[in-house]
Amino acid sequence: MLGNYRFALVDLETTGGQASQDHIMEVAVRVVGGEVDLEWESLIDPLCSVPSFIQSLTGISSSMLRGKPRFADVQELLWSYLDDAILVAHNARFDAGFLRANFARYGRDYQPRVLCTLKLARTLYPDWPKHGLEAICERIGFYSEVHHRAMADVDAMKAFLDYARADKGEAVFNFEVGLLLGMPVLPPSMSQADIDAIPCQAGIYRLLGEAGELLYLGTARSLQEQVLSHFENPTGDSKAAKLVRRVDSVQWQVLAGELSAGLHLSAALRHEKPLLQRRAKALGKACCVRFITDDRGELQLRLRSGLPANIASTGESVALFRERKHAKTRIRELAKEHQLCLRRLAVLVEGELCECGACILTAEKFGGSPLAPTAETAADFSAQVKVAFAGYLYAPWPFAEPVLVHEDNGAGRSEWHLVHDWRHFGSFRWDAERGQLFELSGEAKPLDLAAARRICDQTQEFRYEHYRLFRAFQHDLAWQPLSQFNVAISDDCVT
Ligand SMILES: [Zn+2]
Repeated sequence: MLGNYRFALVDLETTGGQASQDHIMEVAVRVVGGEVDLEWESLIDPLCSVPSFIQSLTGISSSMLRGKPRFADVQELLWSYLDDAILVAHNARFDAGFLRANFARYGRDYQPRVLCTLKLARTLYPDWPKHGLEAICERIGFYSEVHHRAMADVDAMKAFLDYARADKGEAVFNFEVGLLLGMPVLPPSMSQADIDAIPCQAGIYRLLGEAGELLYLGTARSLQEQVLSHFENPTGDSKAAKLVRRVDSVQWQVLAGELSAGLHLSAALRHEKPLLQRRAKALGKACCVRFITDDRGELQLRLRSGLPANIASTGESVALFRERKHAKTRIRELAKEHQLCLRRLAVLVEGELCECGACILTAEKFGGSPLAPTAETAADFSAQVKVAFAGYLYAPWPFAEPVLVHEDNGAGRSEWHLVHDWRHFGSFRWDAERGQLFELSGEAKPLDLAAARRICDQTQEFRYEHYRLFRAFQHDLAWQPLSQFNVAISDDCVT
């Protein structure tokens, strides 16, 4: 992967630490990658005197620099080395900052991809007590006569990169370098062939760690694409990078489609606990917002954890959210979008102020005492609230009876889901030989329509994630009420 790129190993000596006011007085570059391997160095006349502590650190004195090329003289040549190359430097922010500031004076916008060897050393060798260039050289047994001279430091960086590649192996080295560069990577234990083996079909997948521990459990429209997406842009020490660092293998299961995948996922998450998946923890913590009319006819919100047990039968309109925290955030966002008063909605917490137009105005005019709502504004307000929350309102079950939802991936996978009042009562497959539906797991009794009705008479928990799933596929799949159920099944969708 990295073989396709050019790397410019760069070290600068400067008159101080501030890119905006201090000057470059020595530059060394080594360009490697592909067929290229060249180096160039030059002292640079900074057109100012060298502070004495810099002089003692680097051994570069003002007199050594007099008459040397100025940055203006070398910037074009230097640009030809650095343009299109990945900048490699130790504590690269420093060098990148100086180069950016200096090139900018000549109208050049220097925004390279940057590989910091300090960060790389810290990542690959967290146990080493120090990661300065000198400490690294000592550690890897690379000795040089000079330090803090530009080419000496470039040589040291090169020695460290060669050492790390040999020591950690090509796969691990490329993986960590790729992560630091924010490039697509593959976990060191996986090859492109492993990725190619993952089908481009819907299903669920598990990312596993070295000891087989479950790190992540997900659904996909295309398993291959979705698994790859974890490895595409996991920069630095982000959560995505943390996950990718621990992935050792992938398991997957092709399913009839995205609805089936979602149902399998929510069933799996009931007893499997992925270690690095925050969203999974939110499952089963849904909450709802009820709309209460107070004695003045004003609509107010009541947030409650969990869902009403009789949600399907009450006919009361409630808004559903996946978790309490999300509901609180969304209520405030929707209020802002629709100019609704949080005080009137009765959702202000202690110390919180409403910033709706009316509240700001009354605070200015009357020092905060709010106006009592009139019957007319109350009706208006209630209507606006319903509009604002429309996307979250519970949608009543649109059938008079249970339904079988058919999903088929066109490649031999097919499932029927028995659904009533948005509750999931089981998934079935069609047995063509016997002409009957059977439960997916095990060889239980065949499902006839009377049995299906009996199953749906049992009590079953209303689960928010199932409701969202069924709503999402309400118009895309074939929904057959039991009384009209017939299996129009073609040869290619028989499992
Ligand atoms: Zn307000």
